Amino acid sequence: MAGIQLFKAKYEVEECLAQIRECLDVGWTGLGFKTVEFENAWKAYTGLPFAHFLNSSTIGLYMAVDILKEEYGWADGDEIITTPITFVTSNHAILRSGMKAVFADIDDTMCLTPESVRERITDKTRAVMYVGLGGNMGHYYEIVKICEEHGLKLILDAAHMAGTRYKGKIPGREAEVVVYSFQAVKNLPTADSGMICFRDGRLDEIVRKKSWLGINKDTYARTQNMGNYKWRYDVEYVGEKGHGNSVMAAIGLVQLKYLDRDNAYRRQLAAWYREALGECGDKVQTVRIEEGCESSYHLFQICADNRDELMMALNAADIYPGVHYASNINYKMYSYAKGTCPYSDYVSEHTISLPMNMYVTYEDVRRICGVIRDFVNK
Ligand SMILES: *Cc1c(COP(=O)(O)O)cnc(C)c1O
Repeated sequence: MAGIQLFKAKYEVEECLAQIRECLDVGWTGLGFKTVEFENAWKAYTGLPFAHFLNSSTIGLYMAVDILKEEYGWADGDEIITTPITFVTSNHAILRSGMKAVFADIDDTMCLTPESVRERITDKTRAVMYVGLGGNMGHYYEIVKICEEHGLKLILDAAHMAGTRYKGKIPGREAEVVVYSFQAVKNLPTADSGMICFRDGRLDEIVRKKSWLGINKDTYARTQNMGNYKWRYDVEYVGEKGHGNSVMAAIGLVQLKYLDRDNAYRRQLAAWYREALGECGDKVQTVRIEEGCESSYHLFQICADNRDELMMALNAADIYPGVHYASNINYKMYSYAKGTCPYSDYVSEHTISLPMNMYVTYEDVRRICGVIRDFVNK
């Protein structure tokens, strides 16, 4: 890939291959074995009590809403407050479960504001879908308080938040469920996988069954344990094929070892971007990170006028940024909320995610910011 790309995953290739080789040598690439090892490593890293490895974060969010809906007896048409500025997965999870996505607005943290969430609460509100966009926590702890005050469940879409800390600690224990993504371009890349972390051990047991068609037993345990009737299993639910496999877990185990190192470099890149973009004054706004939050910086977002032309100017200089995200309200299934989230509309039209990966250098940052500076001052 020529030029400076938005994302480019960096793998510890030899270590990943050694882990994958172990799977091939023992003849097991499926559920169990490395998936259990990765779940344990993830719990140790995050301090979260439960973790179940999945084949994507999308299936995790889908199952999270379905399980909470069933568990707490939510009705079709009940409401979940959410953000328009996210990958559509977060909102599809709400819609496809028969519930209503009620959009609240964001601010320059790119995350939901407490005021807007409060305004959207009705007697049908059951939960808040909170997205730590780009790895930023925004007003997370205030949203936690609102949920507690109003008896709402908190679903944390932590797809960008692998390694994000608040005052040194990984957040998430406050939420009913946290869902991470380890998709190919995320800051902990495998190829496709995710992790679902329920607060309640009973829901963790349910998701383990539901992520494997409703079957209540682990195949690996059965192949390893050849006692009588070990082939028998019960099927308790009409579930999904959502669990992860040992090859993805093998990559995840290695990448997790380097997550803090990689995120530290991302924070360094962000600091270089902020310094260089300071020269643009208020013509370029950068994402605001609240005191105490150590963002994973999966993304570094700016807002500027004439975004589409600026994108083209960057492309002409062989620099390929992205947009996270166009407001989901632009899509027909969410268009009922048109006009309800003005700041999100602004972001949707002005935001650019600058290249953020392990291959970007200080010189790259200076060059990228030079193109931006020339553009906004022209
Ligand atoms: C990538 C992403 C997802 C989906 O992750 P997959 O693992 O690809 O299913 C969900 N939410 C957000 C905010 C994302 O960026």
